[in-house]
Amino acid sequence: MSSSILFSEFARVCSEIEPVSSSLEISARVADFFRGLNDDDLGTAAHFIMGQVFPAWMERELGVGPSFLYESIATAYGMQRRAVEDLLRRTGDIGVTAERMCSQSVQRPLFTEELTLQRTYDNFNLIARIEGKKSQKRKVKLLADLLISAAPLEARYLVRLVAEELRIGVGSGAVRDAVANAFDVPANLVERGYMLVNDFGVVAVTAKNEGEKGLDSLTLIPGRPIRMMLAQLSGGMEKGIGEFSRPVVEWKFDGARVQVHKMGEEVQIFSRRMENITSSLPDIAALIREFVSGDTAILDGEAIAVGPDGRPRPFQDILRRFRRKYDVGQMAEEIPLHLALFDILYSDGSSLLDEPLESRRRFLERTVKEDPEGRIYLASQLATGDLSEVERTYNEALSAGHEGIMIKNLDSPYTPGRRGKNWLKLKPIMETLDLVVGGAEWGEGRRKNLLGSYEIACVEPETGRLLMMGRVGSGIKDDQLSELTDMFREKIISETGIDVGLQPDVVFEVAYEEIQKSVNYDSGYALRFPRLIRVRDDKSAEDADTIERVTELFEGQRTAAQN
Ligand code: AMP
Repeated sequence: MSSSILFSEFARVCSEIEPVSSSLEISARVADFFRGLNDDDLGTAAHFIMGQVFPAWMERELGVGPSFLYESIATAYGMQRRAVEDLLRRTGDIGVTAERMCSQSVQRPLFTEELTLQRTYDNFNLIARIEGKKSQKRKVKLLADLLISAAPLEARYLVRLVAEELRIGVGSGAVRDAVANAFDVPANLVERGYMLVNDFGVVAVTAKNEGEKGLDSLTLIPGRPIRMMLAQLSGGMEKGIGEFSRPVVEWKFDGARVQVHKMGEEVQIFSRRMENITSSLPDIAALIREFVSGDTAILDGEAIAVGPDGRPRPFQDILRRFRRKYDVGQMAEEIPLHLALFDILYSDGSSLLDEPLESRRRFLERTVKEDPEGRIYLASQLATGDLSEVERTYNEALSAGHEGIMIKNLDSPYTPGRRGKNWLKLKPIMETLDLVVGGAEWGEGRRKNLLGSYEIACVEPETGRLLMMGRVGSGIKDDQLSELTDMFREKIISETGIDVGLQPDVVFEVAYEEIQKSVNYDSGYALRFPRLIRVRDDKSAEDADTIERVTELFEGQRTAAQN
């Protein structure tokens, strides 16, 4: 097999794509690049090109935050860390900063091994594995070594890759189209494969070597999280029920989504962001071992934090459980969780994704015994088109403290990762938006050391670009502002005056009075009276609301106003 390409080749492709704005042309260029790669490089390039160091399913992180990245650049090029930060302030881009420092550096090694794509990936793996005492120091050293062997243009993209923000406008949509184009396979099969195995590398190599047939045979792997099926707004009870010839109604529980994988006695639990949260939820794992029969199963449900009165507790309490790393047992007593299961995706060696909901439900009933103490149960399903019965269920769910109802199509398959039309949600409050925070401002006077006025943006899924929708700031109390400032301080990637650019990986749930058209922001919309509801710790930027969704809500409010 041909040897790995040089990282400089990857950097060249990135620099050629960077100025291109047409998404068609971007994916065509990525396709050209993919066509020339061997299997290993294709596997790596498929996530690198989106600015992802490791494939999404892998629970691996470099563990190099912005401040250690600056440290590495300083070490590599024999500069002071302050100098890195000063230049960053001027360029507003950590990649360009590294590039300039690299070209000015006299600290050039006499001899270094040429940096290939595989060597870069191997080194990232080494960096990610470093743990324990002085781990940060060792990470900085390894990263600096990599930077020393890089030429200026390579340094630009190496550093942006470490920051997981390549800034070349290639998102998952572009990679999907590029794989389809490069290996002449249908884009929807590429998408399906990605939703199942969560790794464009695997999907691209399968498309290259086995074509359509290979993609078709990709399936779930117990132990590896898959993207969860999502719901759309119903647009009202009557409309929602009317969508399906055989609707069923379930409560929309007020909790947090979990995907549970049972493999014999081993249980793995994943959050909606596909993080492995098993070690924080030993109580749920024990319930699964006790009440779920069969050897292998993948189950979908909602974890609910319950108060002494049996009603759901605030979402923040569930997150405290999900995030807890120590004294987990004590926390489990303080905030007990219940598990409501509503779907099953895999059972004893077979994927159930293509089975209709009706049959998956039968599998679910056969697989899960209900706990007499009510800690684990199945979502009750009401199969009816009768609006007064639906309304009764809706009111019951609300008076039990839950969010509303889900209306589902009994004849529909499970579509991972898609906000399809087969699950519709109905809740009383005005839909909030989940938006990515891309920047902030330092406050004035009393709030001088606090970050506020957060820039919020929705996502353009084809390119992964963030489209600004305005700022949210009013209504955040000082103690919350200081909590937010602590969290964001680590994520600052540029600073000009009071303006701060942030690594865009935090999602705010934002309420508002109305969506308005606006020429001031590149999304084309602005929010009237935006208000921060909470930080959606369970969502990553990828899960934030898209421009299509904003448009849909905008259109929806217009229709509502006309009625
Ligand atoms: P939303 O987060 O508002 O888009 O609503 C979809 C979420 O509702 C899912 O991701 C689940 O976490 C949650 N949910 C609660 N109850 C159910 C249910 N019965 N079926 C599906 N999803 C549910």
